[in-house]
Amino acid sequence: MAAPACARRSTLIEVDRFGDVTRIKMGREYQGRVLYWTAAYLVDGLLIDTGCPHTAEELTRFLEGRHLKLVVNTHHHEDHVGANHLLQQQFKIPIMASQESAPLIGQSLRLLPYQELVWGYPVPTKVGILPRQVETESHRFEVIGTPGHCPDHVALVETIKGWCFTGDLFISREPKAMRPEEDIYEIARSMKKLVDLPPEKLTLFTGLGNVAEDGRAALQSCIQYIRSLSLKARALERQGLSPGTMVNEIFGRESVLAGLTDGHISSENVVRALLRPQS
Ligand SMILES: [Zn+2]
Repeated sequence: MAAPACARRSTLIEVDRFGDVTRIKMGREYQGRVLYWTAAYLVDGLLIDTGCPHTAEELTRFLEGRHLKLVVNTHHHEDHVGANHLLQQQFKIPIMASQESAPLIGQSLRLLPYQELVWGYPVPTKVGILPRQVETESHRFEVIGTPGHCPDHVALVETIKGWCFTGDLFISREPKAMRPEEDIYEIARSMKKLVDLPPEKLTLFTGLGNVAEDGRAALQSCIQYIRSLSLKARALERQGLSPGTMVNEIFGRESVLAGLTDGHISSENVVRALLRPQS
């Protein structure tokens, strides 16, 4: 059941339901289209992630009267903590994040020009430390450390329902671009942790707003893809190719995101991550 999208000023918020889970996709419009979607999820009074600063007002307005009780940030990035400050002011509810995330969320981030344009600067907020489990009225969520995209990243999993809120750990089955600091092998290990969880069926709810009902297969497919990319990159390295040349050999061409982000999100970063020793 999809609610109609409503556009306000230069930002967009779209709301859909997936059973008991409400997906709130948010983004800033630029010349009539959203530059980059980010998503928050509302389930049983729990909000997972808060979108970017540019959409903080819209998200806060949407949450009025929806019995919000707790907010969890999957990690400290600006497109996941953007409404923290406003939500704290408006609803006086607790916000929690991992022990590693909390100090980062509490300080000013340094953003690149594209990040300021697309997402904006979050107001630093004081957040509590997540326990190993988060309970709502009807559900229990396991908090699982899933580093790789960044060291402080966690995923939330409701094991009875098989809901898996992946933050930015899982982007797609075949990611072709990443930030320079991401650890691709750590990402694969964190995904394996989720694959090994007890639920027979896993539904992924991702930070970009994609929902994958065949979550375990999606994660396994991404892990396999990383393995195969690693083999290709190592083989090309033995042939003496540079990372820039490897991008063309492996992906055909550099990602369009590289041009839009001054190289901050690029395929070359994927290649460089593949060539690092596996920690
Ligand atoms: Zn992120």
